Amino acid sequence: MLDGTPRGLFIGGQWRDSSNNASFTVEDPATEQALCEVADGTPDDARSALDAAAAAQAEWAATAPRERGEILRRAYERLAEREDDLALLMTLEMGKPLSESKGEVSYAAEFFRWFAEEAVRIDGRWSRNPAGAGRLLTMRQPVGPCLLITPWNFPIAMGTRKIGPAIAAGCTMVVKPAQQTPLSMLLLADILREVGLPDGVLNVVPTTKASDVTGPLFDDDRLRKVSFTGSTPVGKTLMEQASKHLLRVSMELGGNAPYLVFGDADLDAAVEQAVIAKMRNIGESCVAANRFHVHESVADEFAHRLAEKLGAMKIGRGTEDGVEVGPLIDDKQRGKVAELVDDAVGKGAKVLTGGEKVGDRGYFYAPTVLSGISDDAALLREEIFGPVAPVKTFSTDDEAIAAANDSEFGLVAYVFTRDLNRVLRVSESLEVGMLGLNKGLVSNPAAPFGGVKESGFGREGGHEGIDEYLSVKYIAIDL
Ligand code: NAP
Repeated sequence: MLDGTPRGLFIGGQWRDSSNNASFTVEDPATEQALCEVADGTPDDARSALDAAAAAQAEWAATAPRERGEILRRAYERLAEREDDLALLMTLEMGKPLSESKGEVSYAAEFFRWFAEEAVRIDGRWSRNPAGAGRLLTMRQPVGPCLLITPWNFPIAMGTRKIGPAIAAGCTMVVKPAQQTPLSMLLLADILREVGLPDGVLNVVPTTKASDVTGPLFDDDRLRKVSFTGSTPVGKTLMEQASKHLLRVSMELGGNAPYLVFGDADLDAAVEQAVIAKMRNIGESCVAANRFHVHESVADEFAHRLAEKLGAMKIGRGTEDGVEVGPLIDDKQRGKVAELVDDAVGKGAKVLTGGEKVGDRGYFYAPTVLSGISDDAALLREEIFGPVAPVKTFSTDDEAIAAANDSEFGLVAYVFTRDLNRVLRVSESLEVGMLGLNKGLVSNPAAPFGGVKESGFGREGGHEGIDEYLSVKYIAIDL
């Protein structure tokens, strides 16, 4: 699998070494062993990638929307054909169980299918001036060359939900994948090349020097947009850089999702969905349930049932049969998770299951459920990004809503109740971009994914997703 995966930079339709011939090692987080070397892009390589994107922009924007859509459709089909290969590669470099990697490949491919369909629906508007005389015409045109920066937790899907709409809209792009997981993106680029994406439309520059390599692109006024998925502090830095040439900006940032279980909830469903909301992607997801606020009448039962389920999950290398919990991405991430648990326990939390590292090779951490969380525990405020479920109690709806909103983040919330009035009241009151109602998973390529507050702005997927890559032009007509 590794032998058949490109390891170079992809610029102007060609695979090449980095300009200084440097490379870096990609590691398997389950074994801590090297998988292979990948070309380590330099600032000069990034400039070459933007040269290629800028040179291809005008012709690509003029390409028939149907043609752009059909390239995406072919890519969707090719991803489905190569699902097993892509999933294996993803598990090797990122660690998640194979079944979850397959799920991500199919989720990622769906963005191509969705935006293949959106490419031919980029429309405008014709209307009469309210004053009577005159007409108003609007059209939507590609923004221009984009910089797309993606994280390691969903190595392909975080790419396709930017690349799909950019291709559909007629934008060219430079992609900078995360240094821990460049291989999945490189194979994706090769698949897009195979299905006929013209040279220069997509360029990929892996690197270990993210800010040095992307910095010069922000100084270049040919770049017109940056779309970033990653942590809030890095998002803020990129926004400052984007102000230099007033780039269009999309920011998919961190989360701190509250999971609210009211006294009238279907507890079986609440526990079952909690496993998905917490454990998908080993908890390393921006939409992972970060804190469970459970009504005092059911909190004990909920916590014990969740602990039973999480405690029974099979931990191991993602390639092994039946494994449900892979390693965390690296030692730093595991250290952060352990620190948050130790802090909560030091402040009085009780460990119902887990609470420790597992094994002496690979970055494994046991699925953990904590109860009796004190208000000042750091994991209520910080994104855990690991398999840890803190359960806290509340007594009134107002208290639950206040606790849920007590965060600078606002990506997603989960609400479990059977009371319709409560559903509507709580949904209106929560400061989030998305809400799972009696459901622990919201991601869907046909829906607008994104947050409010410090979780960012802009939407990926849905009808809204392509708007991020289009500018509106208005024409005043004297008629
Ligand atoms: P990160 O450290 O912010 O890195 C994300 C990407 O940005 C990586 O490619 C990284 O490169 C690059 N980067 C880092 N510093 C940079 C700089 N100064 N200039 C340009 N690029 C830079 O985040 P992460 O740890 O990979 O991902 C986890 C975070 O992503 C979490 O906060 C999670 O919530 C968030 N996330 C959000 C969403 C969403 O849709 N809202 C989805 C998934 C993840 P390197 O790999 O070289 O560091």
